[in-house]
Amino acid sequence: MRFHKAESAFFVFIVVLLAAGVVTFYAYDVLQDVTAQSDPRGIDGIADLKTLLYITAVLQATALIFGIFLIYPLIRTQVKEEGKLRAMTMTLSRRSETLEQAALTDALTGMHNRRYFDDALREYIEEFRRINRPVGLMLLDLDHFKQVNDTYGHDVGDEVLRAVATCLKGVTRYHDVAARLGGEEFAVVTPNMDGERLTKFAERIRGAIANMAIQSGNARLNVTTSLGLAVWDGKETAEEFYRRADRLLYQAKSMGRNRICA
Ligand code: GH3
Ligand code: MG
Ligand code: MG
Repeated sequence: MRFHKAESAFFVFIVVLLAAGVVTFYAYDVLQDVTAQSDPRGIDGIADLKTLLYITAVLQATALIFGIFLIYPLIRTQVKEEGKLRAMTMTLSRRSETLEQAALTDALTGMHNRRYFDDALREYIEEFRRINRPVGLMLLDLDHFKQVNDTYGHDVGDEVLRAVATCLKGVTRYHDVAARLGGEEFAVVTPNMDGERLTKFAERIRGAIANMAIQSGNARLNVTTSLGLAVWDGKETAEEFYRRADRLLYQAKSMGRNRICA
């Protein structure tokens, strides 16, 4: 076992104090003999007592000097080092929180990203399996978005994506999970929503996006979106659930776009 410098110093301190205690005890014994006048050594007893008290004083002074000049600075250093270490740990954990946050956020829109969505969908399903309540899923894909980019430029395309994100954030409830899955595709997980309510909600979103006007120079442009809706059947996995909604989205596209398939 290796001792830290401060620990070794502390042991020495204790040993010196103990030695001072033993000497004091011995001096006390001699003092008793001297005062009882039963000391066969006579005057020598007083001389011994003086020596013993002197040794005690030296030992105590040594302990004091040791404590002030060695142990206390060591303790201070250790406290400072611990403070620095704690500050470093806090900075690191704050940074890892920020990184975690960044890893789950879509940089363009500030919405949740695909990774967050996948986890949230799986977790909602697990939780709602237990309480036997419905979970809705809405997949959105902007219509002819490539044309928006081609006509107005990529920056305007980005502007449209941000506007759709703002719109989704505005209409969704606190516990809904709205995410950008990538490109011009978005999703909303709607816990506790049955098919009928989900359709009404999706219709509201479809209308809100269609009525959004994005200014680009002198032009105002509109976008529409197609939506695939599904309510979890209580058995399928998150992936199966997602694929079902995706097939319905594809169907909405093939039926002419700007519509809902449920
Ligand atoms: P559809 O109605 O069939 O969905 O047609 P679409 O043009 O929307 O679909 P397509 O998959 O052909 O094109 C998607 C376009 O989305 C192509 C790509 O340039 C654009 N896109 C993807 N990510 C971004 C982005 O981050 N910013 C911008 N501005 N455009 C993006
Ligand atoms: Mg697409
Ligand atoms: Mg599209």
